[in-house]
Amino acid sequence: MVKITNDKRQTTNDVLFSFAKKYIPGGVNSPVRSFNAVGSSPVFIKQAKGSEIYSEDNRVFIDYCMSWGAIILGHAYPEIIKELNRAVKNGTSFGIATRLEIELAGLIVKAAPSVEQVRLTNSGTEAVMAAIRLARAYTKKDKIVRFQNSYHGHADYFLNCEGVPLNFRKHTLTAPYNDIKKTKELVNRHKRGIAAIVVEPVAGNAGVILPEKGFLQGLRKLSDRYGIVLIFDEVITGFRISYGGAQGFFNVKPDLTCLGKITGGGLPVGAFGGKKEIMKLLAPIGPVYQAGTFSGNPLTVTAGIVTLKALKKLNPYKGLEKKTKRLCDGIISRAQDHGVKLKVNNIASMFSVSFEDTELFKRFFHGLLKRKIYFSPSMFETDFLSIAHSDEDIDKTLGAIDETLKELRRG
Ligand code: PMP
Repeated sequence: MVKITNDKRQTTNDVLFSFAKKYIPGGVNSPVRSFNAVGSSPVFIKQAKGSEIYSEDNRVFIDYCMSWGAIILGHAYPEIIKELNRAVKNGTSFGIATRLEIELAGLIVKAAPSVEQVRLTNSGTEAVMAAIRLARAYTKKDKIVRFQNSYHGHADYFLNCEGVPLNFRKHTLTAPYNDIKKTKELVNRHKRGIAAIVVEPVAGNAGVILPEKGFLQGLRKLSDRYGIVLIFDEVITGFRISYGGAQGFFNVKPDLTCLGKITGGGLPVGAFGGKKEIMKLLAPIGPVYQAGTFSGNPLTVTAGIVTLKALKKLNPYKGLEKKTKRLCDGIISRAQDHGVKLKVNNIASMFSVSFEDTELFKRFFHGLLKRKIYFSPSMFETDFLSIAHSDEDIDKTLGAIDETLKELRRG
C-alpha cells in the first residue's frame, strides 16, 4: 500500500486514480466523481458506516454526499444489511415476478399522494425516460418542457453534448426555473405540441433552489389548461423532503412522478408512477414498451422495503430538518465572522454551499477534505444529511468550517 507522505508526493488516491484512468475512461464510472470541479484526484472509498466513509488510505470522513442522497438512514443501516444478508441467500436476480415487488410498490403508492401505480427501473435516468415516453404516448404530442440547470439523467433529449443528434433534441424546450411567466409564454408558443413539463420540484442539481410560491401550482394549472402531462422528477426529493416527497410537502399533485435514490435503500433503483389512466398504457397491457432484466430485483426491493418502512416508523423528517438547519445557520454565522461571502441554500436535509468564485469553492472543499469532512465535489450539487449524522458530527463539521473559512480569509 502506498503511504501518504505530503501533498507534493503521490498519495494513495493519486496512484489509484492513475490505475483507474488506465482501465476506466476518466478513471470513474460517473463524471462528477472525478473531482474535475475541484481539481485533484478523487478520494477512493472502501467502506462506510453511519455518517462516515472510510478511504483506501485509511482516513475517516464525515460524509455529506450520502451517495448523492440515496442514503437517508445512514450507511450500512443494520436492518438493511440484515435483510440483504437474508435475501441474498435466496438468489440475487430471477427476472421473474416476486412477492417483494408488490410490497415495495404498495409502499410507494401509499406514500406518494399522486401515484396510483408504479413501475420499478434500475436508475433515475430510466425512470424519467419512461415517464417522458408515456407522456408522449398519452398526449400524442412530442415536445417536452424542462428547466434551465435541471438534471434528469443522461437521456439524449436532456443533454446538449456531442453524440446527441440535433433531431433528438429538437423536441426539448427549456424554460427558466421559477419563472412562471416565461414558462407560460413558451408553452403558449408551442401549446399544441407539448406532451410534458418535467421539473425537479426543488432544483437539487442547481444548488438546492426552492420553488417560489406559486411556481409548482402555476405549472399544474398550465398543464391542466393545455392537456400537458406534468412530471415531477422526485429522484432526489422523493422520501427526502418528506415521506410524501415534494408533492406531499408542497401539496401539488403531478400526473407522473419519477423516483430513485432513497427508494432503493442504497441499491440501484428508479421508479415511475402516477395516474392509472396513464400507467395503463404500459406494456404488457398497453402499447408503450418499457422493460428491464434487473428491474425490481429482490435485493434492491428488499433494501427499499426496509428503508421505506423505517422512514414511516421513525418519521425522522423534523429532526433531520432541525439538524440540517443548525449546520446551515452555523455555516452562515461563521462566514459572517470571517467576512467570507458564501451562499447557503437549504430545505429539509438538503443543502448547498456556493461561492461567487469557483476557486474559493475549490479551496473550501479541500479545506474541509483535509479536516475529514466530505462535501459533494461541486458547488452545484446537493449535500445531504442522514439520521446517522449526530450532533457531534455537526459540531465537528462546524469546527472544520470555521478553520477553513479562517484560511480562506487569509488568502
Ligand atoms: N433526476 C434527478 C433529479 C437526479 O438528481 C438524477 C441523478 N442525480 C437523475 C434523475 C438520474 O438518476 P440516476 O443517476 O439514478 O440515473
